[in-house]
Amino acid sequence: MPADFEAMWRDLAPVGRSASSGGYFRQPFTTAERELDVWFTEQCKARGLEVERDRFGNTVAWWRPAGAAGPAVLTGSHLDSVLDGGAYDGPLGVVTALAAVDVLRDRGVTPARPVGVGVFVEEEGSRFGLACLGSRLATGATDWAIARTLTDRAGVAVEDALAEVARGDADLLRDVGCFVELHVEQGRDLVDRDVAVGAASAIWPHGRYRFDFTGEANHAGTTRMEDRRDPMLTYAMTVLAANEQARLAGQRATFGRVDVRPNGTNAVPSAVTAWLDARAETPEHLDALLADVERVAQERAGLDRTGLVVTPESVSGAVHFDADLTRRIAEPHGWPVIPTMAGHDAGVLSAAGIPTAMLFVRNPTGVSHSPDEHAETADCLAGVEALADTLAGLAT
Ligand SMILES: [Zn+2]
Repeated sequence: MPADFEAMWRDLAPVGRSASSGGYFRQPFTTAERELDVWFTEQCKARGLEVERDRFGNTVAWWRPAGAAGPAVLTGSHLDSVLDGGAYDGPLGVVTALAAVDVLRDRGVTPARPVGVGVFVEEEGSRFGLACLGSRLATGATDWAIARTLTDRAGVAVEDALAEVARGDADLLRDVGCFVELHVEQGRDLVDRDVAVGAASAIWPHGRYRFDFTGEANHAGTTRMEDRRDPMLTYAMTVLAANEQARLAGQRATFGRVDVRPNGTNAVPSAVTAWLDARAETPEHLDALLADVERVAQERAGLDRTGLVVTPESVSGAVHFDADLTRRIAEPHGWPVIPTMAGHDAGVLSAAGIPTAMLFVRNPTGVSHSPDEHAETADCLAGVEALADTLAGLAT
């Protein structure tokens, strides 16, 4: 008898959790994330699902009853986390998928089409910097020739990290007719609407840009203020400018990561590298936001006599989920259909031409990518039922 949702959730709770913050460190191909991979494989085997892997480390477990044929219905999500992330972003979509298979079996439902539960690696981009790496490679959105050389902060390349993990040679998406990803909501829309479950309409375009500020290292005591070429100053003004531009335009702009050289308390820095995460309603708005931030930053660099080079690291366009599929899923239950500002593997599969939809489970605080991310058990169980209904509707 496979474990139910709550037992599975308890299994996962300690894996990769920081004792000091309570947040999760489940970076791809590290010990904690691999423990989750082993756990997932065991759960699939306990259910008699057939586990397939591709060469990029992605996994799909198939429920293929005798006679099931035609395009498959794929669900699932990811098991990796951001640094010091929450418990729900990713794993909720995987654990509810396994529990939904159990619900369908309890109901005596036999799918006429194969049903797959998928796990995509490095969805967050927290280790190698490219979000949705696994699904991008699986769909061909990113070339292996480019991805293999991406490195983590310790200089380990994707290719070398992957050499250490279980892989296969399956083309996991070859027979997939549609994909439905369940995810914890990363906002408060469902809270405001007072419902446990909703569906997604679209994902905002999203860009990550590296800002390299350069100046001149010097003594913090002997260098007169007017003689400095301080890249920290240019960086600080850029953060303020990004915040102001995004606020004015109803968009999102965040500097959440920064490297300072030499990073000494008593030294004017020689260089500051910072990463801007920007999101806007349309690609045009996103381009305009970046252009505004960069213009202000370059003007400031001129005043500070510092240098600035901006390099896009990953930019994804808007994703509009399959309207027919979404209507078919949401309408019978009266689930609201809401936009999201967060990227997901569902966005990558959708862009690759696979009809795709998303379900969200209410998050009481709206907080995500943080130890405070949460969903009530009752809402998670509502998510399991919603996903089971959805799979039953699509696969029978
Ligand atoms: Zn996620």
